Amino acid sequence: MQTLQARIRYYRDLGISQFYRRIAAPLSEIESVTAINPDLEPPIPPRKPAATLPTTFTASVDRAAGLSAIQHELHNCTRCPLAFQGRHTVVFGDGNADARLMFIGEGPGADEDAQGLPFVGRAGQLLNNMIAAMGLKRSDVYIANIVKCRPPQNRVPEPEEANTCAPFLFRQINVIKPEVIVALGATAATYLLGGKSPLARLRGRIHEVRGAKLIVTYHPAYLLRDPSQKKEAWKDLQLAMTELGVKAPKASSNADS
Ligand code: SF4
Repeated sequence: MQTLQARIRYYRDLGISQFYRRIAAPLSEIESVTAINPDLEPPIPPRKPAATLPTTFTASVDRAAGLSAIQHELHNCTRCPLAFQGRHTVVFGDGNADARLMFIGEGPGADEDAQGLPFVGRAGQLLNNMIAAMGLKRSDVYIANIVKCRPPQNRVPEPEEANTCAPFLFRQINVIKPEVIVALGATAATYLLGGKSPLARLRGRIHEVRGAKLIVTYHPAYLLRDPSQKKEAWKDLQLAMTELGVKAPKASSNADS
């Protein structure tokens, strides 16, 4: 009885004052019914444990678990020739499993192969600056590549290599469910869209891939070679920002490195 009174006081403290009164059968009655027929359900079914985590946190855990399962499948992967051409690490991807924005490049370079993370060399520094110019942090987005192993001499991945590896990227996209994907360069655009087209024809438009809006821009490595195109790349990023509903911080007018 004291426990019941304490509970009622607790509910009153929360501002809950209306109670339904349930007349419970005496315990002896319940015990005798179930004892006569053990197949009968107990009159009060056991309570399901209450969900203790908010839905968003659960979704985040599910996404992180989904990504780790895919990464586990790629451990020491030898599914395509790139496994035997000097790669040191499988560069799976990096960033926020709940990201609304994904950047997808072509493949890891020497720095990425050494560190096991995508876009950590000079091109990665420029990509970081581009992300900052958008008013975002690298930890807000998810970054991956069409192929996860370094092509020798940074050559373009062969179709056999890209077609073998890309399905794992598609699974990453399915798990993360980004709203917007930015394809960095022609190779990323080709394998995401499933066909080759000149970059000039693909830029400045919204495409659709796996439920996400796809925007095509230049690869940061190309922008390092031809910085005059940074203004054009900034236009592409602004398109992505419009789709995401984010505004650039006041100090940023472009994505200069
Ligand atoms: S590039 Fe992809 S498919 Fe090829 S070996 Fe590396 S992880 Fe496997």
